[in-house]
Amino acid sequence: MGDPFIDLSDVSLRYGGGTVALDRTNLRIDQGDFVALVGPSGCGKSTILKLVAGLLQPSAGAVIVAKREVAAAGAEAARVRIGLAFQNPTMLPWLTIRENVMIPLKIVEPFRQDWAKKKGGEYAERAEALLEQVGLKGFGDKRPWQLSGGMLQRASLCRALVHEPQLLLLDEPFGALDQFTREELWAILQTLWMRQRPTVLLVTHDLRESAYLANRICVMSARPGRILEDRDVPFERPRTLEMSYAPEFATLVQQLRMRIAHARTPGTPEEQAA
Ligand code: ADP
Repeated sequence: MGDPFIDLSDVSLRYGGGTVALDRTNLRIDQGDFVALVGPSGCGKSTILKLVAGLLQPSAGAVIVAKREVAAAGAEAARVRIGLAFQNPTMLPWLTIRENVMIPLKIVEPFRQDWAKKKGGEYAERAEALLEQVGLKGFGDKRPWQLSGGMLQRASLCRALVHEPQLLLLDEPFGALDQFTREELWAILQTLWMRQRPTVLLVTHDLRESAYLANRICVMSARPGRILEDRDVPFERPRTLEMSYAPEFATLVQQLRMRIAHARTPGTPEEQAA
């Protein structure tokens, strides 16, 4: 095995007010893997994403992405293309959906240098092709306010992937959507991941979502968060909704649920050992 693509070793993070979000947390993720982070609210899941993105610096320990220490290199210098999607798919209201999807191509190298030349041609076609894959064919000229929440989240996935990121960071991307829309987007995200194979780190509180999408599920303890359990998800791909109703799937979800309920209870053996 080579070096992991993401390597958090003994990472601690103390926020300004004194909150210790992470305390000697370790997490290793291979290139092209799809890892879900689950755990009680406030346990430090988003903090891990922000550390990996270079938006936060660890108080102690090292965050290494693609063999470079993120803090030392700076987010820009890490030279890893990152795609981001959050619960709120913030779109710039004065741009069309296509223009919103193309934003990374305008700011991220190597695309940026050709922006002026390609924005009306190749880049617009690239955005259109992605919009079509997520079921938004014909919506590229609309403005964000003309689309529903589910449609905006589809467009947000396109924006996260348009510059073919090596790393995709997703923080509760479907958290605000109804169950049907969410399940549709699981299938879409899975297809996009299987095509492009970025390394994905997904934060979610939806355990079915983690079991449908991820290859590995890391369960975190209550704050300060550590990885309590690291589960491989054995189901074949492409996964389907039918598979999510199979007994093995339900058992996995139930085990995760119990693990998290246990992690939330103060005074569990893990917390005492921490
Ligand atoms: P999660 O994503 O697991 O819900 P977070 O990583 O957002 O948790 O936060 C972990 C802990 O750090 C929480 O207790 C949260 O209140 C605290 N926290 C997060 N961001 C800040 C901040 N900017 N300043 C102070 N405390 C913060």
